[in-house]
Amino acid sequence: MTKSIYLDHAAATPLTGSVLDAMKPYFSEKFYNPSATYLQGRAMRTELQALRAAAAVVLGAKPAEIVFTSGATEANNLAIKGVHEQYPDAKILFSAVEHASVIEPASRLGAKIIAVDEKGNINTSQLKSLIDEQTVLISVMLVNNEIGSVQPLGEVAKIIAEEKASRQKNGNKLPLYLHTDAVQATNYLDLHVSRLAVDFMSLNGAKIYGPKGVGLLYIRAGTSLTPQITGGGQELGWRSGTENMPLIAGFVRALHDAQSSKDLEAIRIRAIRETFETGLRRISDSLVINGGKNRAPHIVSATFAKKDNETLMMRLDEAGIEVAVGSACKASSDQPSHVLTAIGLNDEQAHATIRFSFGHGSNLNQIDTILNALSKILKS
Ligand code: PLP
Repeated sequence: MTKSIYLDHAAATPLTGSVLDAMKPYFSEKFYNPSATYLQGRAMRTELQALRAAAAVVLGAKPAEIVFTSGATEANNLAIKGVHEQYPDAKILFSAVEHASVIEPASRLGAKIIAVDEKGNINTSQLKSLIDEQTVLISVMLVNNEIGSVQPLGEVAKIIAEEKASRQKNGNKLPLYLHTDAVQATNYLDLHVSRLAVDFMSLNGAKIYGPKGVGLLYIRAGTSLTPQITGGGQELGWRSGTENMPLIAGFVRALHDAQSSKDLEAIRIRAIRETFETGLRRISDSLVINGGKNRAPHIVSATFAKKDNETLMMRLDEAGIEVAVGSACKASSDQPSHVLTAIGLNDEQAHATIRFSFGHGSNLNQIDTILNALSKILKS
């Protein structure tokens, strides 16, 4: 069997050898519960603290600001519901292109949507007009998972700083927090929490060559949040449940490796993407690449007018090339993607759109094979 060409790194990534090695001991000899009080339990607690400190160093945070979770869905839910419970009458804003794990909880709480332009970037003047003295939380992802657009978080942070200054003058004590879902940014962009000026940040292991089912929420010291999973008080009281040491160890290694290699990997992947996009334009006159110029390097969202994306995806699969139709978590839905709709695509265009996403397994030698297969499929 010939090996397939995997172009869905935005959905899942394989473990690296170093991540697997970091996890292995915790499945066997280091199986102890970090809450146990005998020597081996205490040793496990020390290791957990070291892992938390290592994650904090990568993000420029303090260890007590890192809460390990079961993934980004839980981290997003904790940030949104946790702030809402502290300030039930206050207002939450989120961008129209957020992942479902932000949109679902935020919408249920009556949060308001910040529109995006045709490139997928939030409309900062609309954001300014939506913020009022009752706004407590703004959730804007760093990189969109379907089209790759990078949000202007720096501008959002500036708007927040202005609003905070005016609140101080007016004696309004309500905080104004910034939350970002940075899941798709970890392999390529700087995640230093102070440089990003975020109060909460969600990450996971699944997209960074780490294990699935683990992630974290960065919680800036001094912010107010109500824990959502209560019980034994693990994770500094923020998230109860016995800590999953193998997953945490693998995730922290993956996070460290992703942030250490991000600059070089961004250059490598961008070169692959540019070659691919040049070739795509050659084989399809009607092609539109979504998301504007300021995109993370790994994602190409391409609309092939009048084609059906399910058919294209299946034909590519038969040719040994794995691509996505929208985001993996919504792949079973017939609804057009909310992200593509938000940037102005109609239903037909949304159903003619495919996501290619590059990663460790990608190289320039694959491009001709992909383009040849796609060219044949588009002609048939
Ligand atoms: N946020 C974004 C941007 C994602 O791409 C994903 C993964 O699909 C998630 C959140 C959900 O992450 P998890 O599967 O770890 O809950």
